[in-house]
Amino acid sequence: LLDPNYLRDRIRTVPDWPQAGVQFRDITPLLQDPKTLRVLVEQFVFRYMDQDIDLIAGIDARGFIIGAILAHELNVGFVPIRKKGKLPYTTISEEYELEYGSATVEMHSDACKPGDRVLLIDDLIATGGTMMAGKRLLERLGAVVVEGCAIVDLPELGGSALLREGGLKLFTLVDFA
Ligand code: 5GP
Repeated sequence: LLDPNYLRDRIRTVPDWPQAGVQFRDITPLLQDPKTLRVLVEQFVFRYMDQDIDLIAGIDARGFIIGAILAHELNVGFVPIRKKGKLPYTTISEEYELEYGSATVEMHSDACKPGDRVLLIDDLIATGGTMMAGKRLLERLGAVVVEGCAIVDLPELGGSALLREGGLKLFTLVDFA
């Protein structure tokens, strides 16, 4: 079985990026190495292969990479949740607070239908604002958000606790304090 540190040891920490004081957890080494990419994807495949997922909703932009691979593996469709202004067709949008200011995510209004069992995926949960906004978008269209998942959780930022309090089940692979 997998060494619990296998994935953690392959995430790169970049100090002071994109601004001073931030320790950016860079997942690109996980994607770059073929064996690591396979191990990563299989953690999610094993968890979700028998959960009757209808659709995967991936969050802009790193959620697209792992989300699209997982959708293909589970033989379900993929829909993007994008930053404002990127989607061409009719959209619904949700705004959320950042440390300074706010951000907006959007989804096509026909991206899912009532009752669809949707898995929400991103690379990382920090304050949880992005994933919470994604959940709201999906629920406005009547979807059942089965779970939120990510490669990395930063529990000290409180996002995963907030999301769980808000009723979202979560599955993450690596914590960084
Ligand atoms: P939150 O909304 O939970 O505060 O921030 C999570 C979002 O910001 C995710 O979409 C994630 O891609 C991005 N993000 C914030 N910090 C990091 C980080 O250290 N590493 C990576 N890979 N993404 C981050």
